Amino acid sequence: MVIRFRIRLRAMSFLTVGGGVPDVMGSDIVHVRKTVVDGNGTRTVVYIPGSTVKGVLRTNASRVAAAYGFSTCNEVEPASISKNHEKMKEVCDVCKLFGRPGDEPHVSSKVYVSDFTSEVAGNNRILVTRVSLDDSTLTARRGALYTVEHVLPGTEYVGEVRVEESEGVKSLLPLLLLSIAELRLSVLGRGGLVDAILEDGGALDAQVSGDWRPLLENLRSWLWKGLLDRGAV
Ligand SMILES: [Zn+2]
Repeated sequence: MVIRFRIRLRAMSFLTVGGGVPDVMGSDIVHVRKTVVDGNGTRTVVYIPGSTVKGVLRTNASRVAAAYGFSTCNEVEPASISKNHEKMKEVCDVCKLFGRPGDEPHVSSKVYVSDFTSEVAGNNRILVTRVSLDDSTLTARRGALYTVEHVLPGTEYVGEVRVEESEGVKSLLPLLLLSIAELRLSVLGRGGLVDAILEDGGALDAQVSGDWRPLLENLRSWLWKGLLDRGAV
């Protein structure tokens, strides 16, 4: 059995896609460009790779695990992970759920995250030209203009999460929910903010036990509701 639900992400700030000077600006969350050819012609779209979202969720889970009674080896390097698991005499909850780097994904990870695509048909990106500053003097470097691409606030992305329902995994679902809740409270990369909701059509009701139901309910509506459409009817 596989548990499926969707996560909808909404940009709450200008998310940096990256630009001419990646080492200066970096990106808030890794976007990938692809060219789409359809009835409307040829255009470039950006999407967030599932591996990026999964990586953020894993980091979030590791950060909050202990506070909620889940175990974590608190490591990302395969060698350190193995060493800590040996010390703990078990594979930690975070690795049980998200797998371990270096393992075959289909062997160890119980969570599969699809790419996150934007449903907006129109253009949801802007290019901003900036002046490059000299780090030491904070003065503009002559001729050092560069262009950065941003995703507009309000842009939404949808992706699917699939959780392989095997022994013990059900008890780790709350850890996955917590890692999604953390998405809404943490800053991505250089300052990007996103809101996130679960779209499960009620499917998780049967999977999540009583204590965690308020969290599940909470994740079904936007946290930062009204922040972007303030003033709209
Ligand atoms: Zn671990």
